[in-house]
Amino acid sequence: MKCPSCFSLNADSDTECVFCHSPLRRRAATTPEWAYLFVVLCGAIPVISLGGAIPAVIGGGGAGLCLTVARAHSWSKGLRMFLCLGITVVAWFLFVAMISAVMRLR
Ligand SMILES: [Zn+2]
Repeated sequence: MKCPSCFSLNADSDTECVFCHSPLRRRAATTPEWAYLFVVLCGAIPVISLGGAIPAVIGGGGAGLCLTVARAHSWSKGLRMFLCLGITVVAWFLFVAMISAVMRLR
């Protein structure tokens, strides 16, 4: 990664710059690319339902949760991907359950 002070290139594992010894910020808040897959999958719920408050809450909540979990870099990548998958599955399950409940009412 690049040093923010002297712009020299350091190894990804370095915690401080080898040239000017300024601390290198860990990429803790960055979002891994695979997280957007789950965000899109959750975000598709209100799109498919053509709006509505409940699908918006399910989709938005699921997408937000996936982003939060994906950014929790203290957890292993495998665990975070598994949790995001679980969140997405639960979000879609809630959506399908809601649709079938609405259909039963009609
Ligand atoms: Zn430096």
